[in-house]
Amino acid sequence: MLIIYTGSGIRMTTSLFSVTRDQSKHENHEMIIVGSGPAGLTAGIYAVRGGADVILIGGYSSGGQLMLTTEVENYPGFPEPILGPELMKRMRMQVERLGLKIIDRDVTQINLKTRPFQVEVEDATYSADSLILAMGASARELNLPSEQRLKGKGVSYCAVCDGAFFKGSDVTVIGGGDTAVEDAVYLSKIAKTVTVIHRRDKLRAQAILQKQAFSIPNIKFVWNSEVVDIVGEKKVDGIKIKNKISGSETTLNCSAVFVDIGHIPNTSLVEGQIELTSEKYIKLSGETSTSVDGVFAAGDVADHLYRQAVTAAGSGAKAALDALRYLQKIKGHP
Ligand code: NAP
Repeated sequence: MLIIYTGSGIRMTTSLFSVTRDQSKHENHEMIIVGSGPAGLTAGIYAVRGGADVILIGGYSSGGQLMLTTEVENYPGFPEPILGPELMKRMRMQVERLGLKIIDRDVTQINLKTRPFQVEVEDATYSADSLILAMGASARELNLPSEQRLKGKGVSYCAVCDGAFFKGSDVTVIGGGDTAVEDAVYLSKIAKTVTVIHRRDKLRAQAILQKQAFSIPNIKFVWNSEVVDIVGEKKVDGIKIKNKISGSETTLNCSAVFVDIGHIPNTSLVEGQIELTSEKYIKLSGETSTSVDGVFAAGDVADHLYRQAVTAAGSGAKAALDALRYLQKIKGHP
């Protein structure tokens, strides 16, 4: 089952929007966009304004990773920070006003071997001459047995979703990128202490975020350390960490572990049908073209480098323009 993962790897159980129940078993369109993050919705804006007969299939939990973010202050056009879910709501309202039909269903299958291409949801099949794949990415896990056991019992991939459960507690954040540091700052306002565990002695996060985190007294850093176990049976009681230089192991008491160690592209449904990179991102040729003629990709599903809301939106625009050109070529579309 393809889920429009929400960045933490957790499917949100509620949607901001009502579910569109499409009773028809089969529909044919010129273009289908799969994914409802900034890439998919921006592709929608350009495709619908370009006159295509297009639908977007966005998953039950629409909005992508920004639905799990707090304040966004690097998306142009917002002089004051805007909450991630609010930004996504506005993007969706914009594209719906332009007339794009959005199907709030999870995609279960994509067939790139047939023409037209087929995209299946639970009880309907959609086909189209052109596809834009914008399924995003989901949270990478530590791959510890204890992590699996304690998921949802203190192990979390989304500080915004779960942080409030740990008011006044000691919590840890794993990772050294933007997400980890942003989450540490967010959690410092809720938790008693936040300990960031990073595998190196330097953060990867942007300088502005680092400066902010270093200035907050209840955020502590443990460097050169990796998590070897999460302690607790029915809930998280602590983590066991190993110093990579000395080899020594220590246990740190905490009530929650927020895992922020990057993302994995959501390409499982197209694996084997389209060329992927060694890290399983969709391989692009040119700007948004893939190895399958007529299939374009945008956003984090094809981007291991930038992974910003604004770059995802930009690539969504490019993918739609490329898909419109493709349709024009095969059909003489206006
Ligand atoms: P990221 O940049 O890939 O950082 C992942 C972090 O986790 C790195 O510090 C990495 O360590 C560490 N890590 C990776 N695998 C690990 C493992 N198995 N065990 C322990 N640590 C591990 O991921 P991200 O922070 O989620 O950010 C993803 C993208 O979104 C980035 O491009 C980022 O700029 C963007 N983003 C932007 C904002 C913003 O602009 N406000 C907010 C959030 C995210 P190393 O450093 O040693 O590699």
